Formats: sequence, structure tokens, C-alpha cells
Amino acid sequence: MADKGTVFIVSAASGTGKTSLTTALTARNDNIQVAVSHTTRKPRENEINGVHYHFVDTATFEQMIGDGAFIEHANVHGNFYGTSTREVEKIINQGIDVILEIDVQGAEQVRRQMPDAVSIFILPPSLEALKQRLFERGTEDIETLNLRINNARLEFEQASLFDYLVVNDDLPTATQDLMTIVYATRLRQSNNNEALISLLQN
Ligand code: 5GP
Repeated sequence: MADKGTVFIVSAASGTGKTSLTTALTARNDNIQVAVSHTTRKPRENEINGVHYHFVDTATFEQMIGDGAFIEHANVHGNFYGTSTREVEKIINQGIDVILEIDVQGAEQVRRQMPDAVSIFILPPSLEALKQRLFERGTEDIETLNLRINNARLEFEQASLFDYLVVNDDLPTATQDLMTIVYATRLRQSNNNEALISLLQN
């Protein structure tokens, strides 16, 4: 039976390129997957239910909270988002690492419940660059955009609570940084002691 996979928390302000980064990471690595969250946010164009998110209505989300279905959940920029416990366990029980792309409130909840989780905060190169990326992405109306920019400052204040900080200035470099964190975690004594055990048994 494979050891359990590691939980990696990846947080960043909206527009930091977090999804491009985790997509690049999982494309280069078989043994890591992104958990699909539930949200009450409306799907954007090109977003597929069950792939990008499980899109649900507020009543369903509240029912899931009542059933204790979430490891963590939060109201982010006016919508609910949550990570289902079943989704995460299904992945880590196969010995596969899982990435939780969640906000700072969710990160705090997971850290409390899973002290072995490894947390990574992705920083934009500057606030200006962040604003520009959000405007260029064009997926939000102006009101939502301003809300996300204001929330970014609050999120940066939480960055010091994370184990690792990665600056996403250049996507290949930041992807490499993320891979380095994942590989180093796999070499932790507690995650890699089969070699030691077999040596001691001979
Ligand atoms: P977006 O609406 O741009 O997809 O995501 C908005 C924010 O919600 C991002 O910061 C994203 O990381 C966060 N988010 C996505 N899924 C979850 C989740 O399951 N839990 C929490 N707490 N935040 C989430």
C-alpha cells in the first residue's frame, strides 16, 4: 500500500497566475493532482462543471456545510468556495499528492486540521503587474475587479503564515520553483523512509 500523498496548499491573490502554474506543474508530473472545489460562483466562459469547479447553488452548498462535507470553506469575493473532504481523501489515499488552490481563509483552516500540509503563497512581481493581468484577463466586471484588487492587499498580509513564497514573474521559473518544493517534500524523512527501513532490515 502506497504511503498517503501530501497535501499542498497553493494560495495567491486573484490574477497571480496560480492556475497556469498548477496546470504546468501537474502536466509535468504524474503523481500530483489539483482537487476540484465546489463553488456558488457562476461559471466563466470555457469553464466546465466537474473540471474547473463543481458549480452548485447556495442551497446545495449550505446543505454540504451542514453535512460536514468540507475540510474548509469560505466566502471569497462574495461567493462560497469549499474543498470536499472526500475529494481530497480519494486522491491522497492512492499515494498521489494533491494541490488545494484555495484562498488564505481556507489555507488557515486546512493548516489547523492538517499540520503536515505544505503551504505555498504565490506573489505577483508587483501590484501593478497584478492589476494589469486582471484587466487583460477580462473575465470580471469592473466592480468585481476592484474588489479583487482590494482583497489582494489583505491577502498579502497573510503570506508570512505560509511555508514557502514563490514569485510568479516568469512562468517557467515559478513552475520550477514549485516543482522544487514538491520534490523536496517527497524527500522528507517521513515521506521517504522505505529506503531506510529496508537498509536496516538487511
Ligand atoms: P476564482 O473565482 O477566480 O476561480 O477564485 C477566487 C478565489 O477563490 C481564489 O483565491 C481561489 O484560490 C479561491 N478558491 C478556489 N477554490 C477554493 C476553495 O475550495 N476554498 C477556498 N477557501 N478558496 C477557494
